[in-house]
Amino acid sequence: MKTSKSIKCKLCTQNTDPALVVDGLCPTCAPVQAALDAMVNSFTQHLRSVLIQANQERQQKIQALEAKLEAQTNAHQASDSPKHLTTAEVCEMVKLKRQHLWRLIRAGKFPAGIPLGEGPNAKKVWPEAEILAWLDSRGRGLIGKTTA
Ligand SMILES: [Zn+2]
Repeated sequence: MKTSKSIKCKLCTQNTDPALVVDGLCPTCAPVQAALDAMVNSFTQHLRSVLIQANQERQQKIQALEAKLEAQTNAHQASDSPKHLTTAEVCEMVKLKRQHLWRLIRAGKFPAGIPLGEGPNAKKVWPEAEILAWLDSRGRGLIGKTTA
């Protein structure tokens, strides 16, 4: 059983001498196919690099957004959990002695604080925000001034 003397080119379908056929293509079509393959390859590479770059830019934007969101979330959580200060911490913060602080509270000139127990001697705490607001209400140049 002998095989056919000629092979049909798979592109132009011309009968071609098997010795000249490369990958099923005749000598005319082979270089055309090679050129087409090269074009497709270089276009594919170009397209891939464009897509990779676009994807990197997208990733950077997503990361920037995530960082921003995290910062906002952290700031929000910080403001959601108000800090409470003890008498000692309040005194340190406003630079006043305990006695002076009680005097201001009795005079209604300082936030009264939150008593943690019963009776006038109950331990107290203050929301940090109240102390900050009080400091703010004092204006500038009044707090921290010590008798020289
Ligand atoms: Zn051909």
